[in-house]
Amino acid sequence: MTDSSSLPNERRVAYFSMEIALRPDLPTYSGGLGVLAGDMLRSAADLAVPIVGVTLVYRKGYFRQRLDAQGNQQEEPAIWKPEEVLEPLTTVIWLELAGRRVQIRAWRYTLTGIAGATVPVYLLDTDLPENDPADRELTDYLYGGDQPYRLRQEAVLGMGGVKILNSLGHTSIENYHLNEGHSALLTLALLEQRIGSSRLGTASEADIESVRQRCVFTTHTPVPAAFDKFPRELVNQVIGADRAAVLDVTACCPDNTLNMTYLALRFSRYINGVAMHHGEVSRGLFPNYPVRAITNGVHAVTWAAPKFQELYDRHVPEWRKDNLYLRYVVGVPLEEIREAHAGAKLALLAELKQATGAEFDPSILTIAFARRAAAYKRADLLFTDLERLKSIAGHVGPFQVIFGGKAHPHDNEGKEMIRGVFRAAQSLAGNVKVVYIPDYDMRWAQLMTSGADLWLNTPHRPFEASGTSGMKAALNGVPSLSILDGWWIEGCVEGSTGWAIGKEEDLPEDHGVEAASLYDKLEKVILPLFYRRPDGFAEVMRYTIALNGSFFNTERMMDQYLSNAYTGCANHSRG
Ligand SMILES: *Cc1c(COP(=O)(O)O)cnc(C)c1O
Repeated sequence: MTDSSSLPNERRVAYFSMEIALRPDLPTYSGGLGVLAGDMLRSAADLAVPIVGVTLVYRKGYFRQRLDAQGNQQEEPAIWKPEEVLEPLTTVIWLELAGRRVQIRAWRYTLTGIAGATVPVYLLDTDLPENDPADRELTDYLYGGDQPYRLRQEAVLGMGGVKILNSLGHTSIENYHLNEGHSALLTLALLEQRIGSSRLGTASEADIESVRQRCVFTTHTPVPAAFDKFPRELVNQVIGADRAAVLDVTACCPDNTLNMTYLALRFSRYINGVAMHHGEVSRGLFPNYPVRAITNGVHAVTWAAPKFQELYDRHVPEWRKDNLYLRYVVGVPLEEIREAHAGAKLALLAELKQATGAEFDPSILTIAFARRAAAYKRADLLFTDLERLKSIAGHVGPFQVIFGGKAHPHDNEGKEMIRGVFRAAQSLAGNVKVVYIPDYDMRWAQLMTSGADLWLNTPHRPFEASGTSGMKAALNGVPSLSILDGWWIEGCVEGSTGWAIGKEEDLPEDHGVEAASLYDKLEKVILPLFYRRPDGFAEVMRYTIALNGSFFNTERMMDQYLSNAYTGCANHSRG
């Protein structure tokens, strides 16, 4: 496979995302959305899809997390030097924002696929001496600042992004893919190209349709309260009343508020949720739009631990360029699965000791729970009944738990949840070891999803649109114990790929009922299997890889975007 699309004007898809995880050590991501964007582009490079990525550079990152002995989170800027890692580009464009001209430049990071094809990712930067000091800071912090800061950032991403792609010679983009609503202002930039900025308020249905034909929107948010919104007054200030006039023509400002999700919906020809159930939930939220679904995935080569990479290379060497081959892991001897897992587990426990001083016994069932510390993820569900937990550990078999995850700096509920885990850890001392690793990132995610014996997920339904960390675990043969929400509704084959907490039909939800179900599964099914029928447990691991590792990857996901969402890439679809 050669890179037939290295000329800018041969790229057909521009993928816009507020965050993109390019490398574990570059702080340009906060969580699942950014990791998904990075994984998707890594698979695009593998498949030689003619795509480019667009995001912001975030010179001060999201943040580094420190935790004190009580679990209080402190945030520190994650300062890095783009000039040491990224390729500078000389192109500069400008955008009028809040009455000032803001100059924007781009850095390039190039992802290289398995057969040498490349995907350029452009990271926009406003830290130029020509800019007002306030504008120079616009690309410093991911999800930082107040509403005016966020809106100006989103204008830089969406409107600046479209302009800079043009200046760079990307003149044949047929698909502007909005990965979540943050970049939705790009639709206004496209409209502006057609009719001019001062005339946006006079946009006709044909003008709007011409933009619609070029946009693809993936929504990741299952609850309206979480949609990205801005007061109309602020929108006028930031992008100017002339441009904002189009929002009235298109009814994207109910209650005098710009709803970025509505803007994206109105201007997109293809709309999808990120798991089949999330598609259904979204159709309920947007009954006037044809919302499809493409279930998320993870980049297999990025997330398989070294020991599993070796195992797959021995048995199904084609897996690197065709993840479907992981289906044949069903024929790999159980002993080899166990051995690879033992290696991954030792690697995790060694890093755990180094980072926290905690010594975990590799012969004990190790449960991991790690993801953004947001209230709906319910890190504390496991600790609903501490006496019951102690009793299970004492009577059925020991287990130990590793936690990780950052709370958004303004999320007090999330921060309180972290403290709650620390308090539970103290109460359980002597019965169940519980450790919280600080500064959860891609590196820890790789160690934890491969080194744990059980991946725990307890979101409040239906808030988990998809979830992806359980998919990383599956690629490493680690089964999930999870609430039936997001991808797990598709991925759970009870007793074969893991176990469900509660039932999908259990409505309304009941925290107590779910916790009881969690304890029952641990006590009656998982611990007995782990300690008394190790071959049975290894069999679950093998099915987890064969059934879920082979499917919940970004290669399959990219194929589905090519078949269902993108136009103009026909030659690049596999098969
Ligand atoms: C994969 C990943 C996530 C997403 O986890 P979910 O289970 O989808 O919540 C978050 N943070 C990091 C660092 C990850 O690698």
